[in-house]
Parts: sequence; structure tokens; C-alpha cells
Amino acid sequence: MVGPRWSDRGGRGAVVGARWLGCDGQGPQIAGDKVISGYTCDMESVDLEFEDCYRAVKNRDPSFDGRFFTGVASTGIFCRPVCPAVTPKAKNCEFYPSAAAAMEAGYRPCLRCRPETAPNSPAWNGVKTTVSRALKLIEQGALDEQDIETFSERLGVGSRHLRRLFMKHVGASPTQVARTRRVLLAKRLITDSSYSMTEIAHRAGFSSVRQFNHTFDKLYGRSPSELRRINRTMQ
Ligand SMILES: [Zn+2]
Repeated sequence: MVGPRWSDRGGRGAVVGARWLGCDGQGPQIAGDKVISGYTCDMESVDLEFEDCYRAVKNRDPSFDGRFFTGVASTGIFCRPVCPAVTPKAKNCEFYPSAAAAMEAGYRPCLRCRPETAPNSPAWNGVKTTVSRALKLIEQGALDEQDIETFSERLGVGSRHLRRLFMKHVGASPTQVARTRRVLLAKRLITDSSYSMTEIAHRAGFSSVRQFNHTFDKLYGRSPSELRRINRTMQ
């Protein structure tokens, strides 16, 4: 499942409301929730276009930090606009409205600019109350304790509707946002705290140390302790 993104691959679409816009005149090719090829997208809460994002990346503009993330197709890594690494070519860039959306598209967080330290997107402050309430609860770990059905009930909406709202505004499902939060919180604690790995797994909301290790191995290709070692040698 791929959420809203801005891609240069298929040309450009106009900016109209919160719809997928076909860039080749054929209209969006959507199979279920899956968007098959490169489309420009716009969301109600976001007013950025591909060019705005790419210019911000080229200039490492801190005022865009947290407003979008860059997926670099040639490396499979996603970055903050302020990443000190060499600016990727435009054709390799895809822009996502949230870290969760970039992760959902299969990108791994960059070890240099550390997406886990990006500020919360100011655009989310303006989105529908249900979404901002849900984001706040997820931030507090609600989805680590409840399943999505119970969680949606608590917000007074159906789970399908909640998912639709999330895809529209955040570019990722509530479950994916919760998963991303766990990983990024854990990554921050690995790098910036001296808690034991067991304690970090617990604090970040992983159900077990095994799941914690597995997730990191899958996402970063390294165990949490290796990541801590790498970070120490980088400093
Ligand atoms: Zn980076």
C-alpha cells in the first residue's frame, strides 16, 4: 500500500483538493489501495509540490523539516530535508508527508539525518480533529495496547473510515503510524540514551525483545546493539 506522495517519475499533475491526480492524462491507476505508477498528489493539509520539496532538499532548508520526507529510490533510504548527504537526483526522489508513509513505501530511515529527530509536521495541526486526536493517542502508545477496531470505536468512527482519513492526511494507516512511532522512538533511545536494550524495547512499546530485534534487523539490517555501537563510533 502506498500513500500520498509526490513523485517526479510520471510527470506532474495539477493541485486540486485531496485527490490522486493522473500525470499521463489516463487518470490514476489505482488497484484497491495500491497506486501502481508515479503520480503527483496533493492533500488538503499539504500545499507542497514536487518542485518545492526538491528545492528545499537542494538547499537543506530547515523550515521544511518535518513537513515532508524524501525517499531516495537509488538507495532505498528516506531522509529529512536537512540531510547533510549529497543531494540525490530529482528522478530518484519521492516525497512523503510522514515518516510512516515513507516507511510504508519500503524506505529505511537514514542513519545520518535521523528521521526520528524531525519535528512533528505543523501541517498535521490543521487536519481533521479525529486525525489529530488519533495521532496524539498513537503517540501515547494507544495502538500498542488496543487493536484498531477498539481504537476506532474510542474515536467514534469506523476503522475503515479512520484508515481513509489517515491515508488522506498522513499518507499511512494508523497501524503503520504506530509501527513507525515504535521504531523511531526506539531508535532515538538507542542513539541518545543509555537504557538497556530490554528497557528500550519495553519503553518503545514492542511486545517482546525478540520482536524489537527482528524489526530492527529487517529495517536497518542491523541489531539494536550494533546501531548503538555504530553511532558511538560516528561521534
Ligand atoms: Zn539522510
